[in-house]
This record gives sequence, C-alpha cells and structure tokens, in this order.
Amino acid sequence: MPSALETLVKILKLEQDTGYKNTAVIGGLQSYAGNWQREAHQQAKRPEHHQLVDELIGYLEAYPSLEATEARHDAIKHMLGRIMGRIPGPTVATSTLASASPDAAPPPPLPPAPPPPTASAQTPPPRPSAPPRTPPSPPPAPRSRRKPDPDEDELFEDSGEELETSEDIEDLFGVEFRPVAPHIETPAVPPVSPRRTRQEMPSLADAVRHMQELRVSTTQLHKVGKIMAEKLQKLGIETIEEMIYTFPRRFDDYTRMRTLNQVQQGEVVTVAAAVESIVRKQGKGGQPYLLLTLDDGTNCLQVTFFGQPWLQRQFKRDSQLVLSGKVDLFRGQLMMTNPEWELLERENLHTGRIVPVYHLTKGLSARTMRRLMRQVVDEWGRKVPEYLPDSVLDRSDLVGLGWALEQMHFPDSFDALNYARARLGFDELFTFQMAMLSFRREWQIVPGQPIGVEDWWLDQFFGTLPFPLTNAQQRVISEIRADMAKPVAMNRLLQGDVGSGKTVVAATAMAIAASQGKQAALMAPTSILAEQHARSIGNLLRSAPGGEHIQVRLLTGNTSDDERNEILRGLAEGWIQVVIGTHALIQQGVNFQNLGLVVIDEQHRFGVEQRAGLRGKGTNPHVLVMTATPIPRTLALTVYADLDLSIIDEMPAGRAPIETRIIDPVQRERAYSFIRSQLAQGRQVFIVYPLVETSEALDEVGAAVDAFSWLQKEVFSSYKVGLLHGRMKPAEKEAVMAAFSSNQIQVLVSTSVIEVGIDVPNATVILIENAERFGLAQLHQFRGRVGRGEYKSYCLLTTSADNLEAEQRLKALEETMDGFKLAEIDWNMRGSGDLLGLRQSGGSQFRLAEWITPSLVELAQREARTVYAEDPDLSQPEHLILAQRVQIVLESRGADVS
Ligand code: ADP
Ligand code: MG
Repeated sequence: MPSALETLVKILKLEQDTGYKNTAVIGGLQSYAGNWQREAHQQAKRPEHHQLVDELIGYLEAYPSLEATEARHDAIKHMLGRIMGRIPGPTVATSTLASASPDAAPPPPLPPAPPPPTASAQTPPPRPSAPPRTPPSPPPAPRSRRKPDPDEDELFEDSGEELETSEDIEDLFGVEFRPVAPHIETPAVPPVSPRRTRQEMPSLADAVRHMQELRVSTTQLHKVGKIMAEKLQKLGIETIEEMIYTFPRRFDDYTRMRTLNQVQQGEVVTVAAAVESIVRKQGKGGQPYLLLTLDDGTNCLQVTFFGQPWLQRQFKRDSQLVLSGKVDLFRGQLMMTNPEWELLERENLHTGRIVPVYHLTKGLSARTMRRLMRQVVDEWGRKVPEYLPDSVLDRSDLVGLGWALEQMHFPDSFDALNYARARLGFDELFTFQMAMLSFRREWQIVPGQPIGVEDWWLDQFFGTLPFPLTNAQQRVISEIRADMAKPVAMNRLLQGDVGSGKTVVAATAMAIAASQGKQAALMAPTSILAEQHARSIGNLLRSAPGGEHIQVRLLTGNTSDDERNEILRGLAEGWIQVVIGTHALIQQGVNFQNLGLVVIDEQHRFGVEQRAGLRGKGTNPHVLVMTATPIPRTLALTVYADLDLSIIDEMPAGRAPIETRIIDPVQRERAYSFIRSQLAQGRQVFIVYPLVETSEALDEVGAAVDAFSWLQKEVFSSYKVGLLHGRMKPAEKEAVMAAFSSNQIQVLVSTSVIEVGIDVPNATVILIENAERFGLAQLHQFRGRVGRGEYKSYCLLTTSADNLEAEQRLKALEETMDGFKLAEIDWNMRGSGDLLGLRQSGGSQFRLAEWITPSLVELAQREARTVYAEDPDLSQPEHLILAQRVQIVLESRGADVS
C-alpha cells in the first residue's frame, strides 16, 4: 500500500501537471482532505508528523478558495516542500531547547500562508507549536589511546600479542595490575534519544570528497602497512569504507560480568579471572587436554580445553582471562568446558563495555582488530556522509548515519545498537529500492512493442486447454495481457507456489505473441526442465486457434549441431516463432527476427547477465519472469521494486495435500518399507541428498553416489534405482530423467538438481535427508515434486535428532502447504537472509539481512516511494548525496533487471 504522503505527492503533482484546475481528484482537493487525513494520521508517528498532516489539511481545504493560478501554484509548491522537508515546519521561538542552545539555528521563516480564503471556505486550523529542533550533537570527545610507540613502524603487525603477560598489560595501560576480582559497575546508560544523533548534511562537494577518501586502501590508516593490509584483505576488507561496514559478528557484554561467587551451576556467564595453573593431561581415550585453574579472588574455576593443544602456549600463569560459557559443578568445583575466552583487556573491563567480536584471520588478533576498528570508527565514522534528507529521518525516526556506524561497532547499550541496526538496515533497503525504481524508469522510457489480442481469440484458446483455469490464473493472465498491449515493455514477476500452474500462464503469453506474428522465447535453468516445457507448451500452442503452423523448438546444450544450425536459421529468418531452451539461448549466434516476449522460468537460478542477455536478443521485448519461491509480499515489493508483481495464490482444484512427516534417522527402515509398499502399488519415489554448499559439493555427490549403490543393492533390489547429480553430463541427466518419466526407473536418488520443476505425476514419495539444512521455502519446493498426479503423496524428512530449533521449523512444514506462510515463518525464525538471497543466484546482497524486519521493510518502502514520487531523478538539492549513494548501489550490485 502506498503511504498517505506518497499518494498526496502524486495527486499534487497531477494537479500541477493539469494546470491547477482543482481536478486532480474527483470533487477537488478539499473533498479529498477528509479521507486523506484519517489515513495520514494513522501512519504518523510523532507529534510533528501529526502537525504536518494538519497543516497540509489546512492547505488542501483552502485550495478551492485560491483563485489565482499563481496562488495555487505556490500553495502546492509549499505543500511539496513541506512533505520533502525542503521547507522547515513553523517553529515557535519559545521552544525550550532551541532557546537554551546558543548556536541553534534561527527559527526558519514561516511559510507563506495561503491567501485569506473566501468567507465560505474553511480556514486552515491554527498550527500547533512545533517541537524543538535539536542542534547536532558535538563530536565525541577523543578517546584514550594506547601510548604511541615510535619504534614500531607497523604497530599492529603483532606476532604474539595473545601471549601478553601482566607486565605487558601494565605497560599498555600504565597501571599497576594485580589479579583481583574485577569490580564492575554497570554504567547507567541513558536511553538514547535518536534525534540527538544527527549530523548536518554536508555539501555535495564535501560529501563526494569524503566518499572518495573513504575508498582509499587501508594502508592509509595509521600504522597499517602492507602485511596488515593483506590480512585485512583476507576478511574482504580493502578500503576504509569496507572496514567501517564490516560489523562485529557478535558482542560480549562486559556490562553484565559476574564474579565467581555470584555464578550458579548451569548458567551461561562471562567471568574474568587470573590463571593459577596450567596442566596438560591425558583423557581416557588418550586424548590430550588442558586443565586450567583460575581464581578471581572470590572463588576458583576449573577450565578444560579439549582438542586445542596449541592453547598451551597462549596461557601463562597470572594471565588474566575473560571467559564466556556454561558453568557446571563437578565435585563441588566450578567448571567450564571449551569456553570462549580472551585475554582480559582492562580497558573493556573498566568501561564495562559491550565489546565487539570480529571475524579474524591468521596473525590478526581480536585485540588488534578492535584497536584498528576503534581508530577507523573514530577518525572516519563521521566522515561517511549523511545522505538521507532530514524529512526522511524525521518521518521515520531514524538516527544519524555517523552515530549509527559508531554504535554498530562500539555500542553504548543494546538499545543504541538496535537503533543503529535499524538505521543501517533501513539504508540497505531504501537505497536498494531507490535503485530498483530508477531502473524501472530507465526501461520504461524506451518504447516497447504493443502486442494486443482479441477476446474471441483468447476465449478460443482457453477452450483448447485440458482444464479450466483457476481464478488466480485468469487474473494474472489478464494482468499480463494488459501489460503486453501497452507500448511500454512489460517487466513482470509471476510468483506462484510449486504446482500452482505457472506454465500455462507463460504458454498463454507466448501464444498471444505468436498469434500476432511475434517471436517468443522461454529460458529454463536446466535442460530437463526446458525439455519438459517444450513438450507441454508445444502441445498447448499447437492446439491454439491458428496454431497448427506454429513452429516450437527446443534449444539446449544437447541439441545436435545440425539441428542447432537449423534453429538458428529459423529464428533469424522468423519462421520459428517459439523457442524454449536453456542458457544455450543466450549464446552468440542466436538471433531473432522479431522477438516480442521473453519468459524466464525459475528466475533466481539465473545471474543478472543471463537474464539481461536474453532480453537483449530483442528490441525491448516484454519480459515475464517466474518464480516458485514464495516470498512475503512486503519483502517482494522491495526486492522486486523494478517489477510488477502477479501472484497465483490458488491451487488447481482437487489437489490433496501432501502428507509430511519428520522421521528420526533410526526410523529409516520403516520409511524404506513404506516406500516399498508405494513401489509395489506402481508408484515412483524421489530420495534427495541435498547439495548445500559448493565447498561440500564433493561429499554430497559422494553421499548420493554411495547411497545410490547401497539402495539399489540392499534396499530396493527388486526395482530400478537411478542416480542424478550436478556433475553428470547434461546428456546423462537427460537420459536418467527420461527413464524416470517413463517409469523405467522407479527410485530416483539425487542431489538438489531436482529442486526445479520436474513433473512426474506418478511419483508419490519424496524422502529428503538432512532436511534441517534448508530453508522452509526450499524444502517446500522439493516437496512440490510429488503430489502432481491423482495419487495421495508423501514427503518424509530426516533430521539429526539433536537440532531442536530445526525440528521446530520443520514442524511448520508438516502443518501447512502454503508456501507464502512458510516463507513468513522462515522470516520470523531465521531473519530475512534466505529470502533476500532469493533474488539472485549469488546470495544475499543485504549485509544486515538478519536485522531486517517486516516493519523496517514497510518503512523503507514508504519512504522510497514518497521520495521517488516527488523527485524521481533525485535532482533536488537535498537528494544529491542520496543520488550518489543510489548510483553506487546500481554499479556495485549490478544491473539486476530481471
Ligand atoms: P508450476 O507453477 O509449479 O510451474 P505447473 O505449471 O507445472 O506448475 O503445473 C503443475 C500441474 O498442474 C501441471 O500438471 C499442470 O498441467 C496442472 N495444472 C495447471 N493449471 C491447472 C488447472 N487450472 N487445473 C488443473 N490442473 C492444472
Ligand atoms: Mg514450473
């Protein structure tokens, strides 16, 4: 839903475009005011938002009374200015904070009031007093630093910092150091007032300069040389900016540290204590372990480290350690096993800080990394230019960027951290969406090819289909048909659960194109799928009215040279109207005479260039991309902001739900005997050993291969078992699939190759091993391989018994067949990481995906659309820095036009 402000901006712009005749809405702006007011107040969050709404209402109501066009022009300009924050709100001189602060800006001039309305018109309501505007807070006081050491050229090239003794610590901090129980006071952190954290927006010139400076190599940092820079590179950090945006993987909360006499058995705690003794011991199986005894002055703690013999060199008697872990009681002694540990830093202890913990690499210690970060954040954090206009910050209640970046690394409190995360998560969503909107604008400017079709033709075509369309299918077909008839290229995403019937929708669009003498191409991620589509879409098209002469061809990597040459000729000369294939379609040499429609199935399986490649084979053709991966609508509207959305939210009638069961690995034999009973009835079965990560690819394939021969010999010996995995040659895969389709193979063992839509209606069971490793959306897709025919179908999931959280998630799969609901559950349980990664095969582009909540997504959407509605090319002064940011997103994230 567009925000109330966004809608109003559109109306005001329309009123401008139509010459200030008060015709932008039926009944005039004044009559629109009432409805608008309600919605706008609902969305307003802060007193000044309500005030803005009231103020705008005043202008709207007075609008008809303004007789001169000029006065109307001014009034609208003023309203737009207020919405976008270009014109400050009316300020009251007695505002306490403003008057208390000597360098507060003088109150801005009052806006020009609309001319006095005529007697019959309503007077704008009096403006309530404005809230105080807060001056930007002064820069933070410089923090105490380690003593400079002139001898060390590269101070941070540490070789053995972890081996520091108490003398080192004394040396470092200039304090005498004795192992005593730390006296920790939790500092009372005042609640952050987010509005106190803003910086002035810099001038464009300064901002650009700073942005360039931030992009210099880390070697520009004080005491970072080539060696350290190389280590940072291993963490993906090359520039200062990348360093700032490399956030801690977790935080250790020293503000809640306990002394040993305060801890209880079973608790997970953080404690600090000095090492009394270090002993190397042998366990029962001969396994060596380290036993440390620590003392913090209040009690003793025994710590065992198994399997990490190298630790012995790290500890010395009297070393002060901070340890986090679960406390057990063993023979009356406090114990920790393999805790997280670090050498104590007095700095942390004394400030009682929340301490960041970063990813590290060999030769780069936690302490060095932290110091480096402290330096970078202090010196450069505030130089990352604020690029969000005040109007956006005010409306959305976000903190300033510089402050947020500081807090992301060195938070004053967990509250502050949350404010910072919200700000930075917003930034990612907002700039991404602005980028997508600007894409959309770019392709909409280029003229498209209108392809219209008559009702009678479409009705006849529907009559030839083997089934009546669902309401949802009809709806999305009319959306697509309307798009194609326009002189602007369609760019539409069709989302529909597995089995919801997207293929027939695509076929209809292709039939429309072919019926009007245009060519259509469909690209699928695998040859198996392409082949299946060629068969089913080919049948549908040939039975379409006038379709007897439509030439439909399949072009994949397996196509013979002779055939390929013929297809290329047919496409170039135009006598082949429809081609269905794989990546082979985007190769050089494939040229079309008249490509009017491009369909991309399973879009997330393709990279950006591949999708753009097919589109580029025509002159701005209509584009339909399809995905079976349900993604919550809110999220989809951001991630696919450059596309129009069509959703099939209804299954064809008569689909029985697939019975889903989580099974304990020990019950596997029962699962096998169940499978045998299905096989005995003539049904077929999938068994999936999923491929998780490329690094594990070998093992996974290995597992599937091993399982395959075992299953064939030992478990299903009276049936034919087939094997399908990603390393097989395309022709081999094709052969196996064909054999499964024709029931020459009854049990198909595979890796995740089968994720994409294979249609074998006789298959009734899918067994998925190690299901916990997957997002629900993906499992749901696996499950969609069965239940495609008339028979009752089953999905069996195995999971390792000790993963409770995973089991909880999988339960959702047992309970619902609704892919969108499952996506929501995944979002709530695992953050948006999996979902945001879906747009592209390359994984998530959102660093803060974990913190992205539905409400943040909605907020970013609302703001992006509001700003876009007012200033689509971001040319207004307050948007110039934002424009730079958006440009960076466009460049770095690639032209991800689907
Ligand atoms: P997906 O959306 O996963 O691509 P498909 O297009 O492959 O789904 O359709 C799944 C199955 O449902 C196919 O066998 C198809 O023929 C059938 N189907 C599609 N639409 C309907 C409908 N309206 N009524 C009955 N069956 C349908
Ligand atoms: Mg499909």
